[in-house]
Amino acid sequence: MSESAGDLPSAWAGALAAAGSVPMSAAETRALAAVLADWVRDALTDPVAARKAGSAVGSALIDSHHTQPESLAASIAVLADHLPTEIDSAVRTALYAGLAAGYAEGLRDRTRREQEAIRIAVLDAHRTGEARFRAVFRGAALGIGIADGEGRILEINEPLARMLGRDARAARGLEISSLRLPTDPPEYWEHYRALLAGRRRQMTGEKQFVLSDGEVIWARMRASSVIGDDGKTALVVGLFEDITERREMTERLRHQATHDPLTGLPNRTLLLEELAATLNFRDGRAEGEDTESEDTESTESEDAADADDGDGLAESGSAKSGEAGEGRRIAVCFLDIDGFKAVNDTLGHDAGDRLLIQIAARLREAVEPHAHPVARMGGDEFVILLPDTAGPQSAIEVAERVLAAIREPVLLDGRELTVTGSIGIVEQPVEGAGPSELLRAADVTLYWAKAAGRDRWALFDPQRNARQVARYALSQELPGALERGELFLEYQPIVDLADQRVRSLEALVRWNHPRLGLLGPGRFVPLAEETGAIVALGRWVLRRAVADAATWPRPPEGAPVTVSVNVAVPQVRDPGLVREVRDALEAGGLPPARLQLELTESAVMEPGRRGRPAVQRLRELADLGVRIAIDDFGTGYSNLAYLRRLPAHTLKIDSSFVKGLIPAAVPDGGAQDGSEEPIVSSLINLARACGMMVIAEGVETGAQAETLRKLGADTGQGYYFSRPLPADQVPALILSGFGDAGRH
Ligand code: C2E
Ligand code: MG
Ligand code: MG
Repeated sequence: MSESAGDLPSAWAGALAAAGSVPMSAAETRALAAVLADWVRDALTDPVAARKAGSAVGSALIDSHHTQPESLAASIAVLADHLPTEIDSAVRTALYAGLAAGYAEGLRDRTRREQEAIRIAVLDAHRTGEARFRAVFRGAALGIGIADGEGRILEINEPLARMLGRDARAARGLEISSLRLPTDPPEYWEHYRALLAGRRRQMTGEKQFVLSDGEVIWARMRASSVIGDDGKTALVVGLFEDITERREMTERLRHQATHDPLTGLPNRTLLLEELAATLNFRDGRAEGEDTESEDTESTESEDAADADDGDGLAESGSAKSGEAGEGRRIAVCFLDIDGFKAVNDTLGHDAGDRLLIQIAARLREAVEPHAHPVARMGGDEFVILLPDTAGPQSAIEVAERVLAAIREPVLLDGRELTVTGSIGIVEQPVEGAGPSELLRAADVTLYWAKAAGRDRWALFDPQRNARQVARYALSQELPGALERGELFLEYQPIVDLADQRVRSLEALVRWNHPRLGLLGPGRFVPLAEETGAIVALGRWVLRRAVADAATWPRPPEGAPVTVSVNVAVPQVRDPGLVREVRDALEAGGLPPARLQLELTESAVMEPGRRGRPAVQRLRELADLGVRIAIDDFGTGYSNLAYLRRLPAHTLKIDSSFVKGLIPAAVPDGGAQDGSEEPIVSSLINLARACGMMVIAEGVETGAQAETLRKLGADTGQGYYFSRPLPADQVPALILSGFGDAGRH
């Protein structure tokens, strides 16, 4: 919040001084604060370091006698105000949590030492006489109470009287058991009875007292019995430490750690807890097995349990324990605001924050009738938990309500803004569901909704997910496959339509997968494009194809045959492409003019960036002397005028147009006869006008080949001429001069 982290030490010193009287001079307090501030500053790098530093600061506060809870509260407040704003919230939370933990731990150690001293003094005093006893009794800050062997109060000191809200003198004769409250844990009173009966020598526990005005006091209690000469319990001495404020502080910290400060909604941590509770999902053993032995020294387990102090979630979901599973269903709706980044970028982060606050309020309202938990997962992501659904339909209804609520125009800085959201829904039986799996599935589904066009919901489909997972697995295997030599190339001839001679061969990659068999590029090239593996794959193809082509013989007549290699969009974006092409040509010893690179329209267009970088790279490639072909032309969005400016030599007309050429041999094909002919014709004319050669793809019949020739295409490629061939068949094909030889 503050821009000047430099004020931290003095602000801190001031806050500590104001928090309570400590025998420390102002200069000493400043020195202390300066040291603590240094510790904090050095640890703001990550949550682990922050937590450690917080803990050290907490115990230093106790060691320096800042034992009033106000010191802790004031320290946290000062830090919240003075930490640089850019410090991550996870780091902040870790720092505060560490601070509270270190403080509590230090205080506990200190109290334990104090209590031990008092206990010994009280027991001693009981043996040796009143005088010293009185002094301890009166001077203690702790509440002390003494009862007889029957459990009647003999005496309490002032601090304890205050905790009980009673007059110290009036408390005499009171039955301790009359302080029982319905909210007390039953063990507390069992242990107490054991203490009176002499079956226990000590007990510890936390005890609640309710004052007459309803105020609740929490005390940590530690009691010991004194055995009389007759072997029976003669006295019970109880020491009470008021931990009310500490509990409140812990609760406040817990609230902070489990809620989003911006919207006040539960955060991811709390959502995961709720989800786990709803699913009755526990990774530990069954609960309630707290085997408290009758061993008089067994107090540590109770102390350890204090870590759960102030768990405000006790009631959520746990009521359902035991009956979980059995037909119950659960749903998770994962929401993301569409285009939220644009709001942040154009209107600023403050406006973005205000939008999130409004959306959070709408979400709460939309789920209001059922009070489904809504959490903010971070950024513009929210999750709605439906702990009890009847089937997908009920979750879909909630999702639709939420989407409708978001769609309502928002007023932001006097401007009306319409935003939309996308939701991934997972709805399934509680049985067998895990919290993080559910969230992950909902997140995946959210992306389906986004991919389907946003402003909508999608429902999780396990089969679709399985396909995606398989695709993903395949993409992970690809780099290894390259190394293991599982990839290979086939070559498909590109044939002169006039004389049927092979002019070029297109390299087409295949994967001989050990488990799945032969895979065509359609199965893995798009994946490789997504993961980026295409860059390495493409490099391999280029080197292999160039090396192969360098060994090809010269045809009996005409110019040497060229090799045509596909280049994917990510490769064009890769700044290393030009150098790689040059290196491959050099390594293979192939003249640049015998290499043709096939780029799809999208690669040369680079939508959004107006094609500029791609064009530049194309030009550099063309300058090397290699040929450039535009692949699958007609399927993208190329601006025809733009085509003229491309340094491309060849246009490959997509097979879909060629398919539309009705075989001329069919007499009177009716309305569809030659329906694509005018388009193919104009594409060819366009290419000609731009000075480009034309390859027609997917030629499957002689009639198509003939029509294309008439329309002016130079070359054709397709099953009519040849299927892609194994690399070792290429030299013979070239030497044969093709003609009819390669036709199937
Ligand atoms: P493409 O570059 O348009 O390659 C032509 C595809 O059409 C090849 O499929 C080829 O076998 C097929 N084809 C050829 N003639 C005919 C025909 O008459 N009828 C029909 N129906 N199909 C025909 P393939 O080998 O499955 O390759 C598919 C796509 O995979 C290629 O389309 C290309 O985009 C991509 N691809 C293949 N190899 C590579 C590569 O090494 N790198 C990159 N980046 N992409 C590749
Ligand atoms: Mg191609
Ligand atoms: Mg093509």
